Amino acid sequence: MDHSGRVVIITGGSRGIGRAIALQFAGEKAKIIIVHYDPDESAVEETVKMIQEMGAGAEGHKIDVSSRDDVAALFKDVISRHGKIDVLINNAGITRDNLLLRMSEKDWDLVLDVNLKSVFNCTQAVLKPMMKQRYGAIVNISSVVGQIGNASQVNYSASKAGIMGFTKSIAREMASRNITVNAVAPGYIATEMTDALPEEVKKSFMSQIPLGRLGSTEDVAGAVYWLCSDSARYITGQVIHVNGGMFM
Ligand code: NDP
Repeated sequence: MDHSGRVVIITGGSRGIGRAIALQFAGEKAKIIIVHYDPDESAVEETVKMIQEMGAGAEGHKIDVSSRDDVAALFKDVISRHGKIDVLINNAGITRDNLLLRMSEKDWDLVLDVNLKSVFNCTQAVLKPMMKQRYGAIVNISSVVGQIGNASQVNYSASKAGIMGFTKSIAREMASRNITVNAVAPGYIATEMTDALPEEVKKSFMSQIPLGRLGSTEDVAGAVYWLCSDSARYITGQVIHVNGGMFM
């Protein structure tokens, strides 16, 4: 088992794609630290319980990943209690969609802060411990729209394209320390958000996807998990597209 005893931090791990990633690691007796933001703790509590029932260690922490102070304090605490951080999954993300003509500065800043600045905050916080142990795997969750763009998602697409550039640059900086950094760019994934869409919108999405279905959270989690496995140690600086062929 590649991840037995490893300390894995997953931002936005309380639900959706982040929860599916956490459950992948849970099968291997990893110590899983779930980061979330909603003061309603029910989702994170359920995820922690699911992980523990699979025999892995789990703890949930409510912080804002866009806050440097919150991130620094949590990561310092994790290192002091567990002695290391082996894997970081930067998955937390939000949308505030609108046409650029109507987009407020507040919604621009919020999306860039939560989706991109968070990646800077969390990655910087793990570099020293990972460099010291000469091992680390970091996976950043981008999006197909960071590659192809999407009307009404200028802020979101810019943040997700930023993650791709960030990933490649930090992969170059850290390669000599045996720290791999990759991105996974999901397409349309079946989540609570996409479930709520009208049937005709779903049909229109489907017509753009050669594999003819929305992706599942497990489709994304499988790719993330593999990138962190020992079979993928020669892979760094890559963006893996998990989108049913929507972008090739
Ligand atoms: P969800 O909305 O289901 O979950 C988002 C997660 O991020 C939650 O755990 C949430 O915590 C956490 N979060 C949000 N804001 C903050 C914050 N400021 N600080 C800490 N945690 C925060 O998202 P998905 O599972 O759908 O998406 C996960 C990632 O995948 C995102 O980066 C998204 O952009 C990306 N993605 C998703 C696609 C999709 O089709 N779903 C497609 C392409 C990319 P809480 O609930 O406690 O607030």
